[in-house]
Amino acid sequence: MPDLIDGRKIAASHLAKTAEHIGELRRRGITPGLAVVLIGEDPASLAYVRSKDKTCRELGMHSRKVELPTSTTQEDVLRLITELNADPAIHGILVQSPPPAHIDEQAVVRTIDPRKDVDGFHPVNVAALAMDDPDALAPCTPLGCIELLKASGIPVSGAHVVVVGRSLIVGKPLALLLLRKGTDATVTVTHSRTRDLASVTRSADIVVAAIGRPKFLGAEHVRDGAVVIDVGINRVDDPSAPRGYRLVGDVDFDAVAPRCRAITPVPGGVGPMTIAMLMHNTVLACRRLTATP
Ligand code: NDP
Repeated sequence: MPDLIDGRKIAASHLAKTAEHIGELRRRGITPGLAVVLIGEDPASLAYVRSKDKTCRELGMHSRKVELPTSTTQEDVLRLITELNADPAIHGILVQSPPPAHIDEQAVVRTIDPRKDVDGFHPVNVAALAMDDPDALAPCTPLGCIELLKASGIPVSGAHVVVVGRSLIVGKPLALLLLRKGTDATVTVTHSRTRDLASVTRSADIVVAAIGRPKFLGAEHVRDGAVVIDVGINRVDDPSAPRGYRLVGDVDFDAVAPRCRAITPVPGGVGPMTIAMLMHNTVLACRRLTATP
C-alpha cells in the first residue's frame, strides 16, 4: 500500500511553528489579527469560517468573525472591507467564497488592501506570484499542497506535475508555485477541455486533482508509483452518516491508492493544510505591516 500523506499531522507541526511566532510577536505587544467575513448561510462556508475562527483563537491570535445575512448589499460589504483595511488590529482579511450571486466577488477582492490579502487573490498578489516576487502573499490551498510534498520528502524539482483544474483559487496559483525557481517542477495544467485527460495524467510523477467532482480520477488516470494530491472536497449523500453526508475527494481513493507511491486522504489531507497556511499568511502579513522581523 502507498504512504498516506497525513495532512493533519503536517498541518499541526506548521501550526506549532506559527504559534511560536505569534508568541514572539505578542511578547513585543503585537497580536496578529484575522477578519473572516461570511455573507449568507451556506453550510459548508459556515463550517470553514468557524473552523478558521477557532484555529485563530487557539493560536492566540485576534479573530474577528463577521457573519452577514444573504441580503447584505455590495455597498455594505465594500464599506466593511474599507473599515477592516483601516483597522490596525486586523492584519489579514478574507471573504469566504463563494458569496451570494448578487455580490461581485472580484470587486470585493480588489477592495482588500493587498498587504492584508491573506487569501492571495488580489491582482497585486496574483501578479507578484506570477513575477516570482518573494513578497507575494500566495493562496493557501496551493501553498498547502507544496508544503505536503516537501514534508513528505517527495522530490518536486524536475518532476512532471499534472494539475487537473485551472481555477484562480487552486489550479493556476499552484502551477505558478510549482514552476518557481527553487521548486522547479515541469508543470502541465489540464481542464475540462483537455483531450484524453487520462493519457496526460498517466505521464505525471505527481497528479494534483482540483476538479470539484467526486471520485472523478480513477486507476486509469495514474501510473504505477505516482504521487497523488487530492484537493477535492465534495459532499455526497450518505444516509448512514451522522449528518446524512460524507466528504469525498476528486480521486477514487480505493481504486487509485494501490497504484501510488503516496496519496492524500480526504478528509485529512489538503484541507487542514489550507487553514495552517492561512494562519501562516496572517502572521507574515502582520510582521510586514508592523515592520517586525
Ligand atoms: P472550480 O470549479 O473553480 O474549478 C474546477 C476546475 O476543474 C476547472 O478548471 C474545470 O475546468 C476543471 N474540470 C471540471 N471538470 C473537468 C473534467 N471533466 N476534466 C478535467 N478538468 C475538469 O473548483 P476549485 O478549484 O475552486 O475547487 C476544486 C476542488 O477543490 C473542489 O472540490 C473544492 O471543494 C476543493 N477545494 C478544496 C480546498 C481545500 O482546502 N482542500 C480549497 C479550495 C477548493 P474548466 O476551467 O474548463 O471549467
